[in-house]
Amino acid sequence: MKQIVFATNNKNKLREIREIMKGLYEVLSLDDIGCHEEIVEDADTIEGNAKIKADFVTNNYHVDCFADDTGLEVEALNGAPGVYSARYAGEHCSYQDNVNKMLDAMKGKTNRKAAFRTVIALNLDGKSYTFEGRCDGQILEAQRGTDGFGYDPIFMSDGFNQTFAEMSHDDKNAISHRGRATKQLIAFLKDLG
Ligand code: IMP
Repeated sequence: MKQIVFATNNKNKLREIREIMKGLYEVLSLDDIGCHEEIVEDADTIEGNAKIKADFVTNNYHVDCFADDTGLEVEALNGAPGVYSARYAGEHCSYQDNVNKMLDAMKGKTNRKAAFRTVIALNLDGKSYTFEGRCDGQILEAQRGTDGFGYDPIFMSDGFNQTFAEMSHDDKNAISHRGRATKQLIAFLKDLG
């Protein structure tokens, strides 16, 4: 079976992608290839950080690889926190710290439009590709739901009346930024055969 590296050690992301790619590719993690170096994600765009991760692995380990990066872009905050979504409330902050900071920043704002954006960078057979998935929605005024992670309890996708933290994993994956970007990657790889 062909092998491809997913530049992550995130167990949830790996499980999800391995299920989808079963029979097509064996998906290896950073741990699986012995990559324990810290990859410094210092680009100022989501695309840039996805590419840094994929290029680091391909250049140093000489393997086909893909990497993803996600950000939450809030219109009333001029696109913030965007590429800085993971450390919005500070370098070692928790998901709850980020949610609290967002609720504070959005206090009194009538424009609550926001979008999650995921970019997947792929290096395959010496060529580079990117795939993007987007999910448009609103930032709520208070959190709802206990499932999920990150900004899930305060994000509601357009066309739904549940937050990401109130939805089942399957329902969220069907419409989420990461689900949509992943579908494009899979379609591309399936097309190659
Ligand atoms: P990453 O690039 O996948 O590590 O995502 C960066 C940050 O964006 C995470 O630390 C979360 O704060 C946020 N994030 C990414 N995906 C989601 C999601 O599906 N729901 C809520 N927050 C997310």
